Amino acid sequence: MSTKLHPIFSFWHIEGDRHADGPIATVIPGSGTSTARPCPGCQRVLEEAPFEGASFRALDMAVRVWPDVLNSYGLIIGDRVLSDLNEIGARGFVAHKLGIGEVESTYLQEMPHPDYSLMELTGRVDVDRQWYDEGQGDLCPQCHGWTPGASGKSRWDRMHLPVMETWDGTDLLTYGNVRTGYHLCTTRIIELARAKKWTGVAFRLMTPRPYFVDLRLDDWLAKAEAWARAEYPRLFTNQL
Ligand SMILES: [Zn+2]
Repeated sequence: MSTKLHPIFSFWHIEGDRHADGPIATVIPGSGTSTARPCPGCQRVLEEAPFEGASFRALDMAVRVWPDVLNSYGLIIGDRVLSDLNEIGARGFVAHKLGIGEVESTYLQEMPHPDYSLMELTGRVDVDRQWYDEGQGDLCPQCHGWTPGASGKSRWDRMHLPVMETWDGTDLLTYGNVRTGYHLCTTRIIELARAKKWTGVAFRLMTPRPYFVDLRLDDWLAKAEAWARAEYPRLFTNQL
């Protein structure tokens, strides 16, 4: 008998592992066309840093490793990860070549490094508005910028529950209906990372309290499920 997995286990945050040995990367946007402009719907100024011609600064004098995935606010991957993604036909991204600027660690300066890419995620899935903010925040229909709204209720701790019907079938994605800086991926990408032994990568559940996948475990998904069911029982009985 097979049981259907709850949608909370369909997508995972993908990010650089903050505990891995490796530099902290800060992205310097390319100097090309700046796309900063006010949204016609809400007048919020949308700063979209140009990807083309971007580079990064590698901070931390003491590190001695160039990992496959860098610790950064953006999603930065090495060429090995990119070719693994292409090999399985993963969709939902544009990989922009990323130059290397200043490198603080003299050890790293001498070492061969992967060719890194800054990932622009184009896949989309919506999150459930009821679980996100019970419809109380102000969500701009044009830019999908979200603010807590007049009620003043802070909703930073809300559940990000994907609505499976809105998923476009991609492996790398972000939210379609709410604008955030999150990078998400499917379970298939976690299995790929395990099989290919990507370094410097971390995956965590979409729940407000963080749960990081233990990539060493074959039953990592069952472990994550047990944690979520104990931590958020109401999610599984569909009670807000
Ligand atoms: Zn707007």
